[in-house]
Amino acid sequence: MQKEKISIVIPCYNEQETIPIFYKEVTKIADEMKDLDFELLFINDGSNDNTLNKIKELVKIDTRVRFISFSRNFGKEAAIYAGLEQAVGDYVTIMDADLQDPPSMLKEMYQVLKIEKYDMAGTRRVTRKGEPPIRSFFARCFYKIINKTSNIEMIDGARDYRLMTRQVVNAVLLLKEYNRYSKGLFSFVGFKTKWLEYENVKRVAGESKWSFWKLFLYAIEGIVAFTTVPLSIAAILGLVICIVSFIAIIFIIVKTIIFTDPVGGWPSLVCILLFMSGIQLLCMGIIGKYLAKTYLETKKRPIYIIKETEKDL
Ligand code: UDP
Ligand code: MG
Repeated sequence: MQKEKISIVIPCYNEQETIPIFYKEVTKIADEMKDLDFELLFINDGSNDNTLNKIKELVKIDTRVRFISFSRNFGKEAAIYAGLEQAVGDYVTIMDADLQDPPSMLKEMYQVLKIEKYDMAGTRRVTRKGEPPIRSFFARCFYKIINKTSNIEMIDGARDYRLMTRQVVNAVLLLKEYNRYSKGLFSFVGFKTKWLEYENVKRVAGESKWSFWKLFLYAIEGIVAFTTVPLSIAAILGLVICIVSFIAIIFIIVKTIIFTDPVGGWPSLVCILLFMSGIQLLCMGIIGKYLAKTYLETKKRPIYIIKETEKDL
């Protein structure tokens, strides 16, 4: 009987220090899971250091290693999509190269799929230890907002690290949108997911590519991708202001008729004007955000472009 195969997709962007350590750890686990075949699919996301050469060295010594090298940096989301598309395994997992996703959990994840018959085994960090408190605060706010306003459920602390069946992979691949927000896409497709919890681990080497600002923009990306509630808020805000100003107009007219009007109140007028134009700009910005996404989506640009793969060696 042919062995089942697990494909490990590893998005790599400037990970020259971590790749050899990662490889050692993962192969150790792979060797322990003897009744399974493995495929290590490295996605070189346009690194500008020695990452590609490090991967090529591995291809030479291990036939299980494959790679795709992008023509430039397309981002982790694109790397994930490419990996899912090119992986051939019966199960596919996505793992960071920095060992922040402990490979040792793979065994348990496989059990969850194989024995407990789940479709997906996800991982979630239960602690945000070692993270600046302000970042944790914003992260929590983000999950509150997105879960209240969209009809999919996003789990706080959920990682991209998950093991899924071929069926789930094919479902995710059906979602061909250009603006990809994987956390949302994985919940969108549904299926039965079991969450395994673990403590946060620091990356083994190199640096995180996520600054606070990048994370903030990513959060907005997620909100725009999965809910249109901000548009409704803009509309409701407009309506409320209309009603309030209508009442104010009547009040002023009545007041003028009864008391006649001494000129005055221009500072308050300026404040109101500024406030109103602020709100108008804000709402236009919100609409613009959605419009921009639609614009990018209609272009139907490819999600990633391959420069070379292991077949070219
Ligand atoms: N990564 C990528 N393309 C990018 C940025 C990151 O493929 O543009 C990869 C990176 O090499 C790593 C994973 O995504 O394997 C997670 O990145 P990182 O460790 O910087 O993020 P963090 O763990 O801090 O969220
Ligand atoms: Mg990391």
